[in-house]
Amino acid sequence: MEWLYCDFHIHTTWSDGAYPVKEVIRMYGEAGFDVISITDHVLDSQSLLGCNNKGERHCSVEQRHFTEYRRELWGAARYAWETWNMLVIPGIELTNDTSRYHILGLDVKEYISPDLGVEEIVREIHAQGGISVACHPYIRNHSGDAPSEYLWANRDRFATIFDAWEVANRDDLFNVVGLKKFNYVANSDFHEEKHFRSWKTLLRCAKNTEAVKAAVRTNDAVSLFLYRGGKLK
Ligand code: ZN
Ligand code: ZN
Repeated sequence: MEWLYCDFHIHTTWSDGAYPVKEVIRMYGEAGFDVISITDHVLDSQSLLGCNNKGERHCSVEQRHFTEYRRELWGAARYAWETWNMLVIPGIELTNDTSRYHILGLDVKEYISPDLGVEEIVREIHAQGGISVACHPYIRNHSGDAPSEYLWANRDRFATIFDAWEVANRDDLFNVVGLKKFNYVANSDFHEEKHFRSWKTLLRCAKNTEAVKAAVRTNDAVSLFLYRGGKLK
C-alpha cells in the first residue's frame, strides 16, 4: 500500500487564514497531496467577544454559520476529489484561548463549543465519528508561546484521550511529544503561503476518510516529512 501525503491542520478565510477554501485546495492539489483537512478556528465565547470588539474580521466560524461552512467544505471536497484525486476531510480547530487549549476535530459533523472542557470536547468529537488531535502542545520557536499549554501541563491526564498529538507544527518539532511516545501527526497549521513548506504527515493506508482516521488512531504506519515545496508527484 502506498504512503499518503497528508496535512491535517489548515486555515482559510473562514477564520484567520489568508486564502479562501478553493485557493488553498488548489495549492495542495497541484502539489500532489493525497489527504488534507480544513480546520478553521472555532473560538471560545470570551475570546470571540474580544476579537469582535477589536473589529477584526474572520475571527472564527461562528455557530450560526456552521452549516454554511460545512456545505462549502463538502463542495470543495468533491471538487478536490474529481480534479486531483485528493481527499478533503472537513474539520475545525476548537480554539480556547481563555483556558489555552487548541484541539483539532477532524470529520466532525456538527458545531462543538470550545467553551466545553477538554474531555467533553473529545467525547463530542468521537460521538460524531470524528478524531481529535492535540495541537502545538509545546513552545513554538516561531511565536515563542504554547497556545495549548493547558494540554501539556495536564499531559498525563490527557495522554490517551486524544487520537494523536502534534509532534511537529509548521517549523517546530516537539521532541517532548516523541519522548512521551504519544500517538503523533505533523501539520503545517497553514495560514499563509510561507506555511506551506513545513512539517507534514505520511500515512500508509487506503485513501478514504474511515481508513485515514483509523490509521491516525492506530498510529502504526505513520511518519513525518518536511515538505520543501514543488510537486510531490
Ligand atoms: Zn492553534
Ligand atoms: Zn491552527
